[in-house]
Amino acid sequence: MTTKEKTRTSKFSNITMPSNTDSIRRRPNAVMPPRGKEILPTDDESSSSSSSESEAPSHLERSELRLSSAIGEAAIKGATKLYSPSSSSSESKIIERFLPWLGLAVWPLMLFLPLLLNHTTKFHYSALFPRAWYTIQGENWLDKSIEQGGIWEYGTNNMYVGSDRPLRHPLGLFLGISAVAMGHFFLLIYFRLHQQQVLGKTTPIQRRGVVDYDYSVAMKSHLSQPGGFLLLGLYLAITWVFDMLPPSYYSFGGGIQYTRVALCLVCQDFSQFVMHRVEHVAHPKMYKISHKPHHRFTNPKLFDAFDGSVPDTVIMILIPLFVTAHVVRDCNVWTYMAFGSSYANWLTLIHSETTFPWERVFRLLGLGTAADHHVHHKFFKYNFGHTLMWFDWIVGTYRNPKDVWGKEFNDGV
Ligand SMILES: [Zn+2]
Ligand SMILES: [Zn+2]
Repeated sequence: MTTKEKTRTSKFSNITMPSNTDSIRRRPNAVMPPRGKEILPTDDESSSSSSSESEAPSHLERSELRLSSAIGEAAIKGATKLYSPSSSSSESKIIERFLPWLGLAVWPLMLFLPLLLNHTTKFHYSALFPRAWYTIQGENWLDKSIEQGGIWEYGTNNMYVGSDRPLRHPLGLFLGISAVAMGHFFLLIYFRLHQQQVLGKTTPIQRRGVVDYDYSVAMKSHLSQPGGFLLLGLYLAITWVFDMLPPSYYSFGGGIQYTRVALCLVCQDFSQFVMHRVEHVAHPKMYKISHKPHHRFTNPKLFDAFDGSVPDTVIMILIPLFVTAHVVRDCNVWTYMAFGSSYANWLTLIHSETTFPWERVFRLLGLGTAADHHVHHKFFKYNFGHTLMWFDWIVGTYRNPKDVWGKEFNDGV
């Protein structure tokens, strides 16, 4: 381990380890021998206790020292016992098996903000924001027919020039962007634990191993891509404020409509699949300008997800988003938030350099996995879908990562 790596690991441990320490201690040392050393008392600690003994302590101090040294020895014995391979009890085996599945929490956490603001009392949106920010004529009008709705109170005196339409109140926009950001925040924490193998061993997808990179540098570049979240934020702001979405998208009435979330994901992936095919086959010049920059990654990592050109994001993400909003027209603000967050975060996950525990089940259902998308980055002409493989199944462009196990990809990915 280099000094730099050590520093990064220990900094990270300081932030994330306390709540996990107990479970990590119980794991067999096979996966994380270096961390075992971190948790055990260090040589420095034992030498400091022996130096204090040499300073001729009083009777009371001596008995305290004896007690603390007894506790210390017991702790060392206990920790050694937990790390000893011979003590790998059935309990630790169960924990070792269970631990990687904690990662599943990343999926509901993508919906953290809409669930918090709509299903709790203390943080309910009606308790946090003035009524005029989220109602039309005092009503949460999705419960009524759209015709009964008027214009937003905020918009009444805010028609934009050249239009008889109101500007929309930015609360929903702000919450929508925050929902994606919060989902992404949880995803990045999970991915760091996953990448560091805190939750269990990971398997690189490609046999040539994972690309070597600095986590914080890659993360900063990922979050500041002009063709990524910045452009996405601009699209969301313009379409929202200038009233370019179907009316129901502005309604705070009701909760997350899960079937609509699923429909949006299907519609989005279908449009994205079509646009992606067009980028690849329409014209070499078009490919070069739009999609080629993203294809410089033949062995992508999680942070390459939104690393593409501005035209690529417009063609393959923004146009499909606009189409989806106008095809699935009856979503409310919570559904739009839930769809946005699950889509953006799923798109990020499929660029991971290692596999996730849920991916075998996903593969069976035709839900996009990291290995599926690595097939596209590696071979170019298969797997044009992103979050779904269904349309590749239908038109015959699907290639199962299993076909290249032991060749370009590792077994079992
Ligand atoms: Zn990609
Ligand atoms: Zn492509």
